[in-house]
Amino acid sequence: MISAVLPTYNRAPLAFVKGEGAWAITAEGTRYLDLGAGIAVNALGHANPALIAALTEQANKIWHVSNLYTIPEQERLAEMLVDKTFADTVFFTNSGTEAAELAIKMARKYHYEKGAPRSEIIAFEGAFHGRSTGAIAAAGSEKMTKGYGPLMPGFTQLKWADHDAIRAAITDQTCAVIIEPIQGEGGIRKVPDQCLKGLRDLCDQHGALLIFDEVQCGVGRTGKLFAHEWAGITPDIMMVAKGIGGGFPLGAVLATEEAALGMVAGSHGSTYGGNPLACAVGAKVMEIVADDAFLAEVGRKAALFRQGLESLVASHPKLFEAVRGEGLILGLKCKATNTDIVKAGYAQHLLTVPAADNVIRLLPPLNIPDADIAEALTRLEAAAQSLEA
Ligand SMILES: *Cc1c(COP(=O)(O)O)cnc(C)c1O
Repeated sequence: MISAVLPTYNRAPLAFVKGEGAWAITAEGTRYLDLGAGIAVNALGHANPALIAALTEQANKIWHVSNLYTIPEQERLAEMLVDKTFADTVFFTNSGTEAAELAIKMARKYHYEKGAPRSEIIAFEGAFHGRSTGAIAAAGSEKMTKGYGPLMPGFTQLKWADHDAIRAAITDQTCAVIIEPIQGEGGIRKVPDQCLKGLRDLCDQHGALLIFDEVQCGVGRTGKLFAHEWAGITPDIMMVAKGIGGGFPLGAVLATEEAALGMVAGSHGSTYGGNPLACAVGAKVMEIVADDAFLAEVGRKAALFRQGLESLVASHPKLFEAVRGEGLILGLKCKATNTDIVKAGYAQHLLTVPAADNVIRLLPPLNIPDADIAEALTRLEAAAQSLEA
């Protein structure tokens, strides 16, 4: 008989009823060190007191207001994002997938309004933009699209970060290029800064819009507020979600005024997007994360963690191949099967997340204490030894 919950996930036999910072706790009181953070969602850890206060305060005022009215919490968060990024304007969603949908619509609408419609969007192998019909068509992998056809037309997938392939494929008919500056699901693959710069140039030459999907790598994860800042260039449109809500469902599409020119009254909408509860939490996350001292701390913690991971890899050459990523979006490229290592981690009460390309992801809360980083390294070492025994 089918389970009451639709069985679309291969779930680990673990259930958590409580959280504290980097720790997730079962009903029996067993504490697991959480290096997944809900896949980069719990950016400030579980049960963060500042976020609880922001949510509770808002819950006592008003929960939901239709976007038919002005929502002050939404305006405030939009202004914070505009202030700290390339963007001139923001639309709020409830998830990364919804952000992908709007990014695609916005790009097509832009060219339509310019009087020369373009629909062709270039994406990349190994990409993940969500599970809607549009987002799976963008990613294009068989794993996500099989059985769901006909797929939304207009997408081409190129070899990941292959500059020559991009140069050959992009034309004056290209509507947009969509790329994760660091692929998350694809295996923590960072697009080289030079390649992002080259992509910006190619988009400019052909009048195509550049869309960055920073749903997983954004919001302080890399030690900058957004990952593309490392490359010194900016997109026209950017998708944000996961970390921005700190665990409350919240996403956003950020855009320049030019890229957003087609998005007039009636052209898009959402019942819940920009909900006061979500935006109150999001504003608190931004207040904490979009701060130079906080981001410098992410960088320092990341260097500490990475150093330990490099020695782990060096001392277990049969299990691991390399450390990948930037800041606290890290990956261990494995030689042994990644899911076996994730399971060995569970036995050490350690949570990590598998990704494609035989990688395990390490995405701890951005404020993980140094002592928990040391504990994580100890438990990873124990997990590695258990596999070699
Ligand atoms: C998680 C993710 C999404 C989809 O976000 P949801 O909130 O699950 O809809 C899109 N893009 C990237 C890069 C992601 O990591």
